[in-house]
Amino acid sequence: MIIALSGGVGGAKLALGLSRVMPPEDLTVVVNTGDDFEHLGLSISPDIDTVTYTLAGLANRELGWGRYDETWSFMETLDALGGETWFRLGDRDMALHVERTRRLKAGESLSAVTAAFCRQFGIRPRVIPMTDDPVRTRLLTESGWLDFQEYFVHRRCEPVVSQLQFQGAGAARPHPAFMAALTDPSLEAVVICPSNPFISVEPILAIPGVRQALVACTAPVIAVSPIIAGKAVKGPTAKMMSELGLDPSAGTVAHRYQDILDGYVIDHADMSEVVSIDARVTLAQTLMTTMEDREALARIVLDAAAVLRRREMRGVRQRADR
Ligand code: GDP
Repeated sequence: MIIALSGGVGGAKLALGLSRVMPPEDLTVVVNTGDDFEHLGLSISPDIDTVTYTLAGLANRELGWGRYDETWSFMETLDALGGETWFRLGDRDMALHVERTRRLKAGESLSAVTAAFCRQFGIRPRVIPMTDDPVRTRLLTESGWLDFQEYFVHRRCEPVVSQLQFQGAGAARPHPAFMAALTDPSLEAVVICPSNPFISVEPILAIPGVRQALVACTAPVIAVSPIIAGKAVKGPTAKMMSELGLDPSAGTVAHRYQDILDGYVIDHADMSEVVSIDARVTLAQTLMTTMEDREALARIVLDAAAVLRRREMRGVRQRADR
């Protein structure tokens, strides 16, 4: 079994690659819910939707969110009525939010609703929210504290960020299936996907017990850098790093995971960073443009994890021989 920790776009790309090079039912994708919010009366879970649409082959790759087979009558009509249209919701996407909201209001958990949608979409990997409890990422900017989507979508990540907060994380319980998977003897690796560390991975790590469970976990923890040659492929990762006073580099991301990391996959372009990274580094082509790129990177990650497992086993044997 493999666990992948994921945000939206970057994470979903690797999760899809993994699901195609291993038995998909052995993959559990744990998804950030810090981006979740309520809008137009609906419960929206952007990262979960990006992951599920991607695994279902429905994702809109050009936009980086929503479905590819979308129509926009709802938004056009809302606009004509003078409604709020900064958060774009396609008609088909809307149906999912309406149904999720109805089920949550009827008392179902977010994970139950997610599992039901995955079944409907024919998705074979298990997709679980990091928690069923509400966690909301907020950012301190020069315009004060902003809710995540206000910063990310409405203000297009323009405000300078000086601090982040994961509201509710301290009282949230990690999803029990996530914690059980971390101690499962069949667990072969935990993969931290190339997602934004600040707004996609760290909300997961902020839930009480998760970081400790990753430290204690006997399977190797291996991350893929979301930064290639000092730049983010997409989104504000590098911009945020600079604003937070950090050097935008693959090494900086590794440093943030230092206590949990066994292996780290970085791009060939970042070879000079190897010396600064306290984990077993694998160099690879980490830009995933085609499906072949996603599969190739997934194989490299799984191979790197297998090497780490063999080393660990050899170490155990040597210690036993002494
Ligand atoms: P979001 O929640 O939709 O912003 O998505 P994520 O946090 O999962 O992904 C954003 C991060 O993914 C950014 O830091 C990107 O640099 C990274 N990313 C996107 N595509 C790729 C890719 O093909 N390769 C790598 N290495 N990183 C990527």
